[in-house]
Amino acid sequence: MQARGLRLALRRGPTLDALRTIAAETGARSVFWNRRHDPVGAAREAAVEQALRADGIETFPHVSALLFNPDRIRTQQGGPYKVFTQFWRACQASDEPPSPCAAPSSLRGPESWPHSEKIEALGLEPRVDWAAGIRGAWRFGEAAARDRLVCFRDEALERYATGRDAPAEELTSRLSPHLHFGELSVRQAWHTIQEAALHRPGNNIDVSAQRFLTELGWREFAHHLLIHFPNTPTQPLRPEFARFPWRRDPDRLCAWQRGQTGYSIVDAGMRELWATGWMHNRVRMIAASFLVKDLLLPWQEGARWFWDALVDADLANNTFGWQWSAGCGADAAPYFRIFNPVTQGERFDPQGRYVRRWVPELAALPDAHIHRPWEAPRDALARASITLGHDYPAPIIDHREARQEALLAFQRIRAMASAPQKLV
Ligand SMILES: Cc1cc2nc3c(=O)[nH]c(=O)nc-3n(C[C@H](O)[C@H](O)[C@H](O)COP(=O)(O)OP(=O)(O)OC[C@H]3O[C@@H](n4cnc5c(N)ncnc54)[C@H](O)[C@@H]3O)c2cc1C
Repeated sequence: MQARGLRLALRRGPTLDALRTIAAETGARSVFWNRRHDPVGAAREAAVEQALRADGIETFPHVSALLFNPDRIRTQQGGPYKVFTQFWRACQASDEPPSPCAAPSSLRGPESWPHSEKIEALGLEPRVDWAAGIRGAWRFGEAAARDRLVCFRDEALERYATGRDAPAEELTSRLSPHLHFGELSVRQAWHTIQEAALHRPGNNIDVSAQRFLTELGWREFAHHLLIHFPNTPTQPLRPEFARFPWRRDPDRLCAWQRGQTGYSIVDAGMRELWATGWMHNRVRMIAASFLVKDLLLPWQEGARWFWDALVDADLANNTFGWQWSAGCGADAAPYFRIFNPVTQGERFDPQGRYVRRWVPELAALPDAHIHRPWEAPRDALARASITLGHDYPAPIIDHREARQEALLAFQRIRAMASAPQKLV
């Protein structure tokens, strides 16, 4: 910004007041901004826009966080989509996402610059420094985001379609925090990967590129749902789920949060989250399913924990991921799909490399027992120096029994939803 002759002026206070003051100080007649799509941000922008226009200031809100203008993606009846395939077809039938423009080499600033608060004065850093693990795992900023995109394109894209579900491999892009904070434009990601498929066809690049672009489509869908159903961060999209008999069990919630459930893959994921602020998508699905379908704890508790711990915490994607896992959202996992944490672990982390990394107390167990340590023979546990219940917890719940209970609870909710309503 400085290289282009501009400065950043930081102000604190109600947005409208701050903008009005700066406009008066600089003589600005136009205000440009990138649109937000979360309910609070969107409502604030609408109010600010109305007030600025009444002041005679031109306003230019710009859709930059999404590939497609959300105002244009609607069903034929003008409503929102609730099924991904139909939504994505509508997106693809609309205009191609515009290519990102190069930054201008210079811009004219105001004659005299308004003062800026010092960033340190905003108190943004946590008082207790809990973020060392996160700093060690990530590079932040625009240049780092661009490097990560290029690195993903050149080193992982080819194997993305086949390897994206294996948490021990680093084959997904890890672009989510950069996309969330706008360090990388989603359009830049879209065009970079699309061009890679065009210029290096074969070697699975095109299949992988399509798969990756579709994942950006899920991000788009999550935002579409949040825009049209702004209560969903706390309320289930399917109203019948408001009556679901979720449990309250602070001890089990705490065991899940700390990665002490006794299910290796769930614990590995929860510990990766705590240490780095990120968790592999497959493991997010397994850990979320375990919370809502094995422990029958409310999805909102899980969403809250992820919100606090994720570096890519994003209201649209997090809400969508949790409602999908609980079966109460749009196009959600059906109620009878209850991930078995053992078979999921054995399928997606067959040698236990991911588990060994994040649950080091199990590292010496042979592959055959790494995802079910409670079934390991006594001598195998002894050789690995594990006493269950001491070095590593015994399972906090029996998955088979929990599954039956969950199925009954979910079936009851479905029956209630399909029962004819009594007219009064
Ligand atoms: C319970 C749960 C909670 C989640 N919470 C978040 C969250 O707070 N923030 C977040 O960005 N993602 C969330 N996700 C979606 C997904 O897990 C992450 O986007 C993904 O793991 C990020 O890693 P990546 O960048 O390597 O993904 P890649 O596989 O490289 O995908 C590229 C991009 O596509 C988007 N994307 C991929 N999968 C999804 C998806 N299922 N839904 C929406 N967008 C997707 C992301 O922007 C991602 O960066 C959640 C998923 C679940 C199951």
